[in-house]
Amino acid sequence: MAQGLKVTIIKLDPYINVDPGTMNPYEHGEVFVTDDGAETDLDLGHYERFLDIKTSQANSVTTGRIYFDVISKERQGAYLGKTVQVIPHITDEIQSHVLELGNSGEYDVVLVEIGGTVGDIESLPYIEAARQLKYNVGRANTLLIHLTLIPYLAAAGELKTKPTQHSVKTLSESGLQPDILVCRSERPIDSGIRGKIARFCNVELEDVISSLDARSIYEVPLLMKEEGLDKRVIEKLNLKTHDYNLDHWIGFVEAVCEPAGSIEVALIGKYVEHHDSYKSITESFIHAGAVNGCKVNIRWIQSDDLTNKNIAKALKGVSGVLVAPGFGGRGIEGKVAAVKYAREQHIPFFGICLGMQCAVIEYARNVCGMEDANSTEFDERTEYPIIDIMKDQKSVENLGGTMRLGKYTCEIKEGTNAHRAYGKTIIDERHRHRYEVNNNLRYKLVENGLVLAGMNPERDLVEIIEIEDHPWFVGVQFHPELKSTVKNPQPLFVDFVKASLKYGKAENLYQPISGGKAKV
Ligand code: GLN
Repeated sequence: MAQGLKVTIIKLDPYINVDPGTMNPYEHGEVFVTDDGAETDLDLGHYERFLDIKTSQANSVTTGRIYFDVISKERQGAYLGKTVQVIPHITDEIQSHVLELGNSGEYDVVLVEIGGTVGDIESLPYIEAARQLKYNVGRANTLLIHLTLIPYLAAAGELKTKPTQHSVKTLSESGLQPDILVCRSERPIDSGIRGKIARFCNVELEDVISSLDARSIYEVPLLMKEEGLDKRVIEKLNLKTHDYNLDHWIGFVEAVCEPAGSIEVALIGKYVEHHDSYKSITESFIHAGAVNGCKVNIRWIQSDDLTNKNIAKALKGVSGVLVAPGFGGRGIEGKVAAVKYAREQHIPFFGICLGMQCAVIEYARNVCGMEDANSTEFDERTEYPIIDIMKDQKSVENLGGTMRLGKYTCEIKEGTNAHRAYGKTIIDERHRHRYEVNNNLRYKLVENGLVLAGMNPERDLVEIIEIEDHPWFVGVQFHPELKSTVKNPQPLFVDFVKASLKYGKAENLYQPISGGKAKV
């Protein structure tokens, strides 16, 4: 990328789910949503954050999707009654996804990541597709990089090359010979071991790349460059590149690894035991922290356990509160208690999707006097369905689509925190939700001082809410975390961290109050 090449990346996942949209966050981590509304593997988030590109449905393929497409074609008679088999039909389908990106004319290089481990039954069709692809597009146009592990046996004080030798052997049984080996290890690989790997795995010495544990995942590209990986890839694929400079990346890595200070922000959610469920949020904090010259430490708080009684203790000392996205009723009252506390105590607050809906519920209940206001997701019979499924969404649902997914425009009101953060009035962000602030009741929120700081103009839906007389209180219906990259840190995260830093330093200036207007 830095060298002037247009690069994209596709993830081939061996699981049978058609997409990760319905997979349990505990098992699978976050669902990453692209502009075009595809619900994809969280690895696509890494690709976007590192490469500063926009991915789409075309960048994520699962075995489920491949079979689904092949079976649909078979049902439509596309195979003219032929026997449909793994080879060639499944392997052709896999290749066609890769070639679609390659032949679009938009890219110089398509990186293909095959998930899983060599030797897995599930990966076999992908390995075979890779073998055929090499043949079909010409060997000179392809390069196979194999990622292996060199474990360190502490008892023997030795690095072991056997697992690497074995996986290369297994690959060769499928007709594939790696061009480059990237060897993960926790200890440096000396020249003796490098030589051994090269000799037994049939690669040149320079093609054994050591990938040591890094201080941050963002340091890895710099370490790979030191190892000469980029040089080898360019030589082997005969690519034409520009001069380049990595100063921004180096500066960013330094800011991440040697922060001048730190703050602690509470992240309140129901999947907090599994940090990968909030991957894009934690990465956005890394980007936003670097801009603000600080490390953002996260205090993970399980929302199930929170009540108005224990919330002060749970949030003691934090500089900011983020209430996370989520589905289902578990932990909602805890989230509402956290919003109430952050609002009343003037702690910077950021509510994302469900977090924003909880902020609206809290405001309706405790400021607008709509007792027991709720989302119909959690209480279908509530007297005040302040969060509800809107009519046009219901009709979409009848057609089989259930969620507002992907990119939508938002018009921002001038003079709000959001306006200051983005520096413009028209933005777009990604969505993944069913419920909305209820358009029939929202006037009550506005009458009581809630600021509708951002609206979707096409559907007249609330996108951003804020309250005044508070250091920073912003709730967003969309998922800003999905668009933060190293090059373009997400503006709301940057501003939230800035406000939290300020709050952390000046905490004692704010007078805790019990509701209503702020006294500063
Ligand atoms: N459960 C809520 C909805 O469907 C919020 C979803 C989310 O936080 N992503 O609207």
